[in-house]
Amino acid sequence: MKGRVFDVQRFSVHDGPGIRTTVFLAGCPLRCAWCHNPEAFAGEGARLRDVEDVLAEALRDRDYCAASGGGVTVSGGEPLLQAGFVRELLKRARAERLHTCVQTSGAVPEELVRSVEEVVDLFQFDLKHLDGQRHEALTGVGNERLVENARGLAARGACVEFRLPVVPGFTDDDANLRALAAFLTGLGVRALQLVPYQRMYLDKYRALGLAARCAHVEPPSAAHLERVRRTLAGAGVDAAVAG
Ligand code: SF4
Repeated sequence: MKGRVFDVQRFSVHDGPGIRTTVFLAGCPLRCAWCHNPEAFAGEGARLRDVEDVLAEALRDRDYCAASGGGVTVSGGEPLLQAGFVRELLKRARAERLHTCVQTSGAVPEELVRSVEEVVDLFQFDLKHLDGQRHEALTGVGNERLVENARGLAARGACVEFRLPVVPGFTDDDANLRALAAFLTGLGVRALQLVPYQRMYLDKYRALGLAARCAHVEPPSAAHLERVRRTLAGAGVDAAVAG
């Protein structure tokens, strides 16, 4: 089983609990205006790799990862476009007693989500905008599929950490924050991770010759994040900045 992999980061501490190996898979159906990994959809640097080969890389740090409660995260891009590879890799990681995490936009057919559920300990699921037209303007696709997948995962009792990329002027309007809170509380979810927009990725766009739609956007200040947090708290959702 092979997957199109464009990067593997060892000793990651921001992609789930503990110390982790994060595997970045190429391809994404979205084109988020603020995407930090344009190489994911540009296909730049991606190569076909065997599950065994990627697992062997993760197992180099197995003892550190396992001792910290960490493990393996698959990210992207949209990793569930390669659900067969993800399933096999995470099944093998679990057999090595490593925690497994998938970072997803949720914008994939439901059967792909279901196909990996039994080998995933944690889904980190981005919710960007609850207004379908606005979502399409920001990402190139509507939000129907990801809304249904979020509902399905919650209904089936999967462990899901929902996340909001806080991109000033793009995803943080009050109407979206209130709609997000209503959606989450409707699922019985009371927590949300805030992922602040950062600018470090802009060099990648220059290197790839791509235009960055958010090049003018400044990262949210602490006061800005606090406003977002309070708006969500007022609507019944506890939000915290992702570690
Ligand atoms: S879903 Fe993620 S990888 Fe895909 S375009 Fe959006 S930010 Fe980039």
